Amino acid sequence: MILDGHNDLVDRLWTGKKPMHIDLANAGEVGFAGGFFALWASGGRLETPRHAPYSLPLDPPLEREQARLDVEEQAMILEALDVTIVKRVEEIVPGRVNAIMHIEGAEPLAPDLSDLESWFQRGLRSIGIVWSRPNAFGSGVPFAFPGSPDTGPGLTQAGHDLVQACNLLGIVVDVSHLNEAGFWDVARHTQAPIVATHSNAHALCASTRNLTDAQLDAIGASGGVVGVNFGPMFLREDGEITSRTPLSEIVRHVDYIATRIGVEHVAFGSDFDGVNVPRKLGGIAGLPRLLDALRKAGYDGEALERITHGNWLRVLEETWKPWGRYFRLAGLDARPTLLDAVERFAVPGFAVDLGAGTGRDTLELLRRGWRVLSIDKEADAVDRLQEHAGEGAQLETRVARFEDASWPACDLLNASFTLPFCPPAEFPRLWARVVDSIVAGGRFAGQLFGERDEWARTGLTIHTRAEVEELLAPFEVELFDEFEGEGPTVIGKTKHWHVFHVAGRKR
Ligand code: ZN
Repeated sequence: MILDGHNDLVDRLWTGKKPMHIDLANAGEVGFAGGFFALWASGGRLETPRHAPYSLPLDPPLEREQARLDVEEQAMILEALDVTIVKRVEEIVPGRVNAIMHIEGAEPLAPDLSDLESWFQRGLRSIGIVWSRPNAFGSGVPFAFPGSPDTGPGLTQAGHDLVQACNLLGIVVDVSHLNEAGFWDVARHTQAPIVATHSNAHALCASTRNLTDAQLDAIGASGGVVGVNFGPMFLREDGEITSRTPLSEIVRHVDYIATRIGVEHVAFGSDFDGVNVPRKLGGIAGLPRLLDALRKAGYDGEALERITHGNWLRVLEETWKPWGRYFRLAGLDARPTLLDAVERFAVPGFAVDLGAGTGRDTLELLRRGWRVLSIDKEADAVDRLQEHAGEGAQLETRVARFEDASWPACDLLNASFTLPFCPPAEFPRLWARVVDSIVAGGRFAGQLFGERDEWARTGLTIHTRAEVEELLAPFEVELFDEFEGEGPTVIGKTKHWHVFHVAGRKR
């Protein structure tokens, strides 16, 4: 199985061109299992250089709204392709084309990150902070040969915030195209392994786009990975752009990086359908020939497995499961709504925790001697919860969307910040199930969102105060706290909240 760090197939299709390298119909035959699919707002291309030495000016900044519209269109193209957009490592399987949604250059994102969470929901799992131009988050390197990647200022405050938000959500931060000052800003602050999806060794090819030895060392020390770019201008010692470039040039970079920082830190980052590649390779059809060349150079068995897919899988696993970091930041305190309800019971009983998330409420219930069924759509969250609960806990877990799940009758149903995320059309049925499942004398605890919540426009289930009161008609209300004001989201952004914190006893 071959997983690849970068391709521009979507851009080819978006600009109405035929793919040069990626023929999805033949992917299975050559073991191409996909990888990072870039969405890229080009905003007009640079003149392509023909000969080294070359020096191209930095592309001017791109207007954000145009970038947003372009990348939105490209996302729709990707979603319509015969590929599987993967959001979790377990979903990446051989025998099909797995697409990791990647934005190359963060121009389409709002600098205040207000739309990052909705992109994440849509499937975005990797972001290149910049392409080769400045944007609100940082500065890219201009294309030049020979040249140093040390070309300008580091990340902006928005760039720092983006790295932190990606760490929290579990999104890869890609340093390819980033200048050196920006690279070191990422290296100092990220909590995830450092990833360069499509860059090479500067010691072998002095392109500004390539990584110095010090940068390679930092990537290795972080447990990260470098995807080797197949573009001759990033491979060759003379920087020439010619398809008469032997496959040994790719092997040379793999070898250099593996020797310097270890074979567990090098992978492929083809740049298929974005650059011209060696004629001997041609496209994905030539991948078996590249593997032969690597075998001849001594990369076999386990080493070859690491290079072709194992290293990418390891880094994705590390990066996409942010729960450890999330736990530290979010803390384990149970929600006041749950505490209000649970303290009113004389003895522990059986609780259902809908959309348990990090499990802060489930763990509190277990501590208090309750039996708990926790339901969450994220298998990672459920795994982590089980780990934290430890052996012998009276905990049962289920991976399911709470809209589809069923559960037995319970003494307490807890739904902390869960129910508003049910699509409005499905809410009445879900609420009826919630009410039905609670035994007489049992309790409900949770949140509903009001109409002035900032997220009200984004398709959540929203209620007026009168509607919440009506929903609670089957209950003797014990807690009714309407909150409206600014407050932090999970990733620490400030938003306007309008929330009803409610708890009550079923009549
Ligand atoms: Zn690129």
